[in-house]
Amino acid sequence: MPLTIAIDGPVGAGKSTISDVVAQRLGILHLDTGAMYRAVGLCALEKGIDLQDETAVSRMCENGEAQVSVEYENGAQRTLLNGRDVTGLIRTQEVGQAASAVSRYPTVRRILVRRQQEMAKSQSMLLDGRDIGTVVLTDATVKIYLTASAEARARRRMLQLQEKGDTTPFETILAEVNARDYQDMHRETDPLRQAEDAILVDSSDLSFDETVDAILALVEERK
Ligand code: C5P
Repeated sequence: MPLTIAIDGPVGAGKSTISDVVAQRLGILHLDTGAMYRAVGLCALEKGIDLQDETAVSRMCENGEAQVSVEYENGAQRTLLNGRDVTGLIRTQEVGQAASAVSRYPTVRRILVRRQQEMAKSQSMLLDGRDIGTVVLTDATVKIYLTASAEARARRRMLQLQEKGDTTPFETILAEVNARDYQDMHRETDPLRQAEDAILVDSSDLSFDETVDAILALVEERK
């Protein structure tokens, strides 16, 4: 039986980087599913499609104009949009907002969820996202809901941005975190919520290493 780990949680909880290290330590692949929604968001932005136009965004996906695939290079995920490597391009705030907008649409979710399930069927994997424990891998070996207070998440994001020379004030970042939480938790299709059988890990007062260790201990327990 392949080992499957589901890690869900709100924006800025550190899911991606934590998941990378946890998967590495376990010797399994990590699929960052947010990157797939970001690739669809990027595609809509590049094509000039109105993100609020559900029909147009859905048609783009159904017509195969936004083909998202994932490859691994020495264990690291590369995200491809119509065969083009967009791993770096999708990491902007604008694309993040676009991802949050297009991820509301059932057609987009259906197509990406199917792809994610196919990938996790035949090999041990860790998937992180918003609906992994509740929709994508309902029978995952271990389900984690990784969160932290909105203030702690905004503070971490501010420090990351400052490293890149971006001086966006704390209040602006906190407002963005709250807006994204609201959008992800209140959409009709597969909103972000903790699965009943998921274990809550609150990293507000934990260091990066402590969070990784806490998750690895939970995996060991359940394996
Ligand atoms: O995790 P990340 O911030 O990269 O995800 C971008 C957006 O994609 C999220 O705000 C969320 O709206 C959406 N998403 C989703 N389901 C997932 C992963 C991400 O709806 N499994």
